Amino acid sequence: MSVAIITGASSGIGEAVARALHSQGWKVGLIARRGERLDAMCVELGEGVAHAVADVTDQAGLEAAMAQLQQTLGPCDLMLANAGIGEAHDGSKFDVAVSTKVIQVNVIGVINAVGAVLPGMLERGRGHIAVTSSVAGFRGLPKFGAYSASKACVTTLFESLRVDLRPRNIAVTAIHPGFVRSELTADNRFTMPWLMDSDRAANIIVRGLKKQKRVITFPWQMAWLMGFVKLLPNWLYDAAVGRASPVNPKREKSEHP
Ligand code: NDP
Repeated sequence: MSVAIITGASSGIGEAVARALHSQGWKVGLIARRGERLDAMCVELGEGVAHAVADVTDQAGLEAAMAQLQQTLGPCDLMLANAGIGEAHDGSKFDVAVSTKVIQVNVIGVINAVGAVLPGMLERGRGHIAVTSSVAGFRGLPKFGAYSASKACVTTLFESLRVDLRPRNIAVTAIHPGFVRSELTADNRFTMPWLMDSDRAANIIVRGLKKQKRVITFPWQMAWLMGFVKLLPNWLYDAAVGRASPVNPKREKSEHP
């Protein structure tokens, strides 16, 4: 039975992927800060699930959590670095603390997760690491500079790792969801095109992971749109997104995928 460890498994996409993998016979290790949620999932799912509480920004704590889960479930075959936060942040009110927090969780947290499992995978000569990035990393989205940058960063990091690790039999996948219904997007007041439920997103992700796809971008409409947006010249991009930029004035939270 294969073992998957998922960070950010207490809600949204991470929880849905954990449930989907478990229903397909995987053993799953759950990591997040809200232990009571993980505990409840373990009780509900029964055998083949374990959890450890850790903050992904705490390198030693995350390493200990990964080690504890591997002790319980067995060596990690697939690690999904999924934990992430989204903070809206107008560049004209640039705040070092907000940007730093997003980068700490979305980038350093991913690096910590990779660092905690990769040596074991290299030693065993097999494994698969994946990251939940975002289509928001395809260009710098207004009001979401740090979020977009964090996702561009992990996508690029994983592309590089993919090439480095292929000869060592380690698969590497970057996942780019569009809008998914979760706590991250719950308060958004604007229309989120092609919004999908986390269960549906999880099925697409799991299907792609099982094929060890290099990149999983969905839904296809968003993949096409953002693929096109990526190619726009800067003057046209600035004009188009400058007008369209949605920001929730009440709660400055995640408004881009
Ligand atoms: P949720 O807010 O539902 O899930 C975020 C998860 O990350 C939670 O389990 C949370 O658990 C965990 N988390 C947050 N901070 C930390 C931390 N410091 N240490 C450990 N765990 C942490 O949102 P989503 O499911 O939507 O987000 C999951 C990933 O998907 C994120 O990386 C997000 O950027 C990405 N994404 C989401 C999209 C969307 O539209 N929803 C679109 C594109 C990408 P806890 O609070 O218990 O620690």
